[in-house]
Amino acid sequence: MAHRPFLESDAALVVNGLRKTYAQGDDTTVALDDISLHVERGDVVGLLGPNGAGKSTLVNILCTLLQPTAGSATVAGYDVETEGADVRRNIGVVFQEPALDDQLTGIETLRLHARLYGLDRQTREERITEILDLVGLAEVRDQVVEQYSGGMKRRLEIGRGMLHDPVVLFLDEPTLGLDAQTRQATREYIQQLNEEADVTVLLTTHNMVEADALCDRVAIIDHGEIVVFDSPSALKAQLGGDIVTLTVTDSEEATRLAELLASYSWVTAVHPTGRDVQVSVARGQTRIPALVTRASEASVSVTSVDLQTPSLESVFLTHTGRTIDDTGAETAPTRPPVVTKQ
Ligand code: ADP
Repeated sequence: MAHRPFLESDAALVVNGLRKTYAQGDDTTVALDDISLHVERGDVVGLLGPNGAGKSTLVNILCTLLQPTAGSATVAGYDVETEGADVRRNIGVVFQEPALDDQLTGIETLRLHARLYGLDRQTREERITEILDLVGLAEVRDQVVEQYSGGMKRRLEIGRGMLHDPVVLFLDEPTLGLDAQTRQATREYIQQLNEEADVTVLLTTHNMVEADALCDRVAIIDHGEIVVFDSPSALKAQLGGDIVTLTVTDSEEATRLAELLASYSWVTAVHPTGRDVQVSVARGQTRIPALVTRASEASVSVTSVDLQTPSLESVFLTHTGRTIDDTGAETAPTRPPVVTKQ
């Protein structure tokens, strides 16, 4: 529907040296510190980071709700500072807090919004029908929003954000507060939307599983900086394989075993923590017998063995030295970062 005014070759988002500081009395908080990012059209990109990392600040600047302190950014080819109205015409935004009128029906909600965008009556009705199908709410279009489930409300909000056919859809913590099943359904729906409606999605999340399942690329953002930006699979591959954890009888034995195992050329990192020895290896499953045999030869008794394949959580831990809990709060490291062998 809405024409795409920029060239096919243009990126959906380009961020260059973006900086944002907040002054409070004598204190200055650096919320974004020299952020640069290039997002191709059609990607689903996740901004992953703990509370206070700077995700909302970045999104608010890209949505023209906040002015950067320094640097520049374009969305759909338009400058967020000097071409704000053009940026706003090309973006859809779904905020974290639900912002729906409970007393309106689904279709009334969309009509109201379509009028705000100045769509003529016929285009409006056609587009609304399309959107209701796209978000799977056609059958309940005449029910008041009050009767919708949490997942249906979220889909209606996403549908509303898609009404004017945006180039980029911003989703702030899209599955926060939803139950596990609805969360999964919402993720699948976002993927489908990305494919069928050809929209670039930029979502914020502190949920590693979500970022892994949903995103083509993930930017890990920490203390106002982008620490890494790559596909989840590349990020996991960079960790150098699996982690085999051998539990032994005490910490002295763990330290002794760690030293012995470090001599294997195929071991990329070894780290003793308490009674555990964590060993980073490629194809961990095939290496377990050799690791256990080595322990036995040195008369170290292994009480259990655990194999972990890399997760985005371990990527986050490696790059930031911390983990994030379910609420987005940083948690102290459960163990110091793995020391890579020289
Ligand atoms: P996130 O979305 O990742 O939780 P934010 O962008 O909200 O992070 O916040 C980044 C940093 O900027 C935090 O230290 C936060 O306290 C600070 N901050 C955010 N908004 C304001 C504001 N309006 N005034 C002062 N400091 C702010």
